[in-house]
Amino acid sequence: PATVHRIQSGQVIVDLCSVVKELVENSLDAGAANIDVRFRNQGLDAVEVHDNGSGISPENYETLALKHHTSKLATFSDISTLRTFGFRGEALSSLCALSRFSVVTCLAADAPKGTRLEFESSGKLVGASVVAAQKGTTVFVNDLFYNLPVRRRELERNIKREWGKVLVLLNQYACIQTNLNFTVSQQPSKGKRVLLFSTKGNKTTRENIINVFGAKAMAVLIALDVDLELDSTSGPGPRSGQHVAEQKSTTVRVRGFVSRPAHGEGRQTPDRQMFYVNGRPCLLPQFSRVFNEVYRLYNASQSPFILANIELDTHLYDVNVSPDKRTILLHDQARMLERLRDALASLFESNDY
Ligand code: ADP
Ligand code: MG
Repeated sequence: PATVHRIQSGQVIVDLCSVVKELVENSLDAGAANIDVRFRNQGLDAVEVHDNGSGISPENYETLALKHHTSKLATFSDISTLRTFGFRGEALSSLCALSRFSVVTCLAADAPKGTRLEFESSGKLVGASVVAAQKGTTVFVNDLFYNLPVRRRELERNIKREWGKVLVLLNQYACIQTNLNFTVSQQPSKGKRVLLFSTKGNKTTRENIINVFGAKAMAVLIALDVDLELDSTSGPGPRSGQHVAEQKSTTVRVRGFVSRPAHGEGRQTPDRQMFYVNGRPCLLPQFSRVFNEVYRLYNASQSPFILANIELDTHLYDVNVSPDKRTILLHDQARMLERLRDALASLFESNDY
């Protein structure tokens, strides 16, 4: 059973990115206004996520790291209207199986005293001790994959690429979350801790972009503010002298920023292409392609910086398609892309940005 648990966990936590993603999303779900992500040795030694969110109540200590224990999903029908990032209750149990894992948590009423929780790799709670703590939760993930030697070696071998992916993901959260103090730092095995970036409870995405990428990067962007009308006619179309058949029109809003076509700066790297669905960071390679293609008609030598939040009704997409929820299935994607292509062309064509 221990082996089975480890193998299944390896499907939820596939790499360093999944660790970061799950922990940051738990902190967001806990309503944190401060999230402090700390790496040691680019995450090979430690990933720690400190937050000042709700904290964990004592009645949840025992089940916290057990499989499929979640406090977020009251009934199955909730999935369609889900507003939290998590709902499967698999992340902590998986991290427990794949790392040296512990948690310190504190409810507001109990500060400055909190509880350090220790678990065995099965997820069983084996220790709870009183420690000094402020309201919120810190999760410690040390020595990721220490008990899966092949995967550990692979992680070490590819750490440069992995680290790059982790930074992209962190940028993605940092830019979209307003009213959040999001701090990321890294400490090399030998040497001092280095602050990578910090957003400061900003009210706007614009300020977040400046904190993460710098004012120079922001200066070459234009606002992305387009509405895509997806009308699907059901039943027969309009006939002369008759009433128009039932016609449903849905608006998909695309909001964010994109490079001004002729900004003349150095090459923009693709890691600055950030997509979201209703604020949830995700991978949308097809959208990325449309942006790149239209942009290159105006600026042949570069790819644009993109921050695009696709805002649409929750029944128009499905998050639950991959365990990491990074891949989102948009139901009418072909039509959306068609409309997007036209909208971008007219945005770049018009000079009023
Ligand atoms: P899920 O997020 O799908 O519910 P997880 O395994 O990520 O599952 O977390 C299990 C449970 O642990 C959550 O439902 C939540 O109750 C609690 N939890 C995890 N991280 C935090 C945190 N940072 N603050 C408060 N509660 C947390
Ligand atoms: Mg979670």
